[in-house]
Amino acid sequence: MSSEQDTHTGSERTQVAFRAEVQQLLNILAHSLYTDREIFLRELISNASDALHRMQFEMVTNRDVLDPQAELAIRIEADKDARTITISDSGIGMTRDEMIENLGTIAQSSARAFVAQANEEKRSVGEIIGQFGVGFYAVFMVADRVTVTSRSYRLDAEAATWEAAGDNTFEVGPSERAERGTTIVVHFKEDADEFANTWRLEQIIKRHSDFVAFPIYMDDRQVNQQQALWRRPPREVEVEQYPSFYKQLTLDTDDPLLHVHLSTEAPVDLHAILYLPTRRERGLIERRIEGKIKLYSRKVLIQEEAKDILPNHFRFIEGVVDSEDLPLNISREGVQSSSVMQRIRSALNSRLNRELNDLAAKEPEKYAQFWKEFGVFIKEGIASDFANRDDLLKLLRFHTTTSGDELVSLENYKGRIVEGQEEIYYVQAADLDAARRSPHLDPLTARGIEVLLMVDLMDSFMLTGLREYEGMKLHNIDDPDLELPGESPEAESALSDEEFEKLCEQCATALGDRIAEVRASKVLRDNPARLISKDPSAGREFQRIQQLLGQETQPQPRILELNRAHPLVVQLARRAAASDNDPIVAASAEQLYDNALLLEGLHTNPAAMVPRIQQLLEAAARSSGANDEQ
Ligand code: ADP
Ligand code: MG
Repeated sequence: MSSEQDTHTGSERTQVAFRAEVQQLLNILAHSLYTDREIFLRELISNASDALHRMQFEMVTNRDVLDPQAELAIRIEADKDARTITISDSGIGMTRDEMIENLGTIAQSSARAFVAQANEEKRSVGEIIGQFGVGFYAVFMVADRVTVTSRSYRLDAEAATWEAAGDNTFEVGPSERAERGTTIVVHFKEDADEFANTWRLEQIIKRHSDFVAFPIYMDDRQVNQQQALWRRPPREVEVEQYPSFYKQLTLDTDDPLLHVHLSTEAPVDLHAILYLPTRRERGLIERRIEGKIKLYSRKVLIQEEAKDILPNHFRFIEGVVDSEDLPLNISREGVQSSSVMQRIRSALNSRLNRELNDLAAKEPEKYAQFWKEFGVFIKEGIASDFANRDDLLKLLRFHTTTSGDELVSLENYKGRIVEGQEEIYYVQAADLDAARRSPHLDPLTARGIEVLLMVDLMDSFMLTGLREYEGMKLHNIDDPDLELPGESPEAESALSDEEFEKLCEQCATALGDRIAEVRASKVLRDNPARLISKDPSAGREFQRIQQLLGQETQPQPRILELNRAHPLVVQLARRAAASDNDPIVAASAEQLYDNALLLEGLHTNPAAMVPRIQQLLEAAARSSGANDEQ
């Protein structure tokens, strides 16, 4: 900061233009819905509360602050005749430069994101504004003039004022203010005078700001509950208070799917409320990326976006964690590695796992919702977090060949294996429908063996780390050497070896170096053909991942297996025996190959099949026409 320039400009009032993005934002807000407008108060109170939290933190880490004795509180007064309200806090305050920075030149990206969202979705702006880091401007839904007077907690800082009248500029200047904190005077527009009313304000505070951690006074009377909900014994909390606190904490408009309230004093002091949201995407750009847990020590907020409190795969969990045992003035790194923190982490993790397992047992529909939204995180955890493997395995769910719409756990699967089955079988495909049509299923369906369906990229990623479950290996059923329990007699074929060999030769010629070999299948029953891997090693999963990601890979040539007993194969063999270069045989070989890729989700250009399909249709039409004539 250049002090010379500061004393110069700091002594007079200066007019500054809002950034273009702010101007757009103000324009949208001026035309916001009536029903949204009360949100402005929530945003101003939330800023005051943030400033108080930061002050609290400064006081425990820094001795030299202005007004150390001042009560940490928010005061609100309404003046009906003047059509104003005044909101004051004893938080950290702002200097003149901080006001210009924070109240005039907001991060372009977040303003732009908000403007885009508001325009595109016609969503109610009040619902979403706070999540974009532009909450302060919500006041311009109701105000035609706003004055901010502030003095920073720093001893050498000077007080300053900021004023805007809803056009494209604001004015900053010096102020005589002596005490620490910020006062905002809102001059309401004519049609917003309902808000200059104590009763109306109190109603809004109850609805949106009841759980703010500092007292909110109106006429010297505290109007919020100001309770740290998480510090109360769970049995004393009313069940509706949990979703209500969740909404105030996260600004989500849906209720959470699950809440977990922990309150223990030993072996570690720990008070926490954790929430499982209903949805992963809330239709907006997530602003909080670092972590979704607020970390308190003795009710002082020490980290607003704490990460590493929960394992990475639970990073969608939101909530508050509070412990008396955490030292207040500890560095971030210190917090991470302290032994108290490790105990807290393990207590939270095991409780969350327990609650999720309970949810699965007692409320399968809610669990299915959880799985739909957050299953990918669990799958990712399987691949990357070995330490939590056992817990994660319990949370996994699958669709299978026999489960219909139900989700199946590995434990369920294990309980249903057939006699002699020692492995867990899975098939990979483009989607559930394709998986259920996979030719690889033929021998398993014949034996009544259930197969897990693996259909997305994250499944493939998970498989790189999921090799067995309770002593049972997971086995991809496209393995050429698959040994299955039980018997399934080979189907009779009308073809001679010689006829079949000729067909194999012609298919091999048609497919060239895309395949390594064409041979008879011992397992196919309902399907004419399948592709199998030559080398069924772990490298396969990586190759599939690369292919699904559209990366350039040199796919290994695969083996085309033909079902000698299938009518299509029989007909093609007859043709191959009659002619050495029958175009229908070549086109059919190509199409069988493409069909296999398509079901596996690995076909890169299905439209290219159309001319060939038409060629085959034409041949079919011609031959059936010939039959009619006979
Ligand atoms: P956000 O609160 O998400 O950062 P806002 O638009 O609500 O976004 O506020 C912008 C910034 O203005 C805040 O981050 C803070 O630095 C500053 N600010 C607003 N109100 C106050 C206040 N009462 N005391 C101190 N700083 C404030
Ligand atoms: Mg804010």
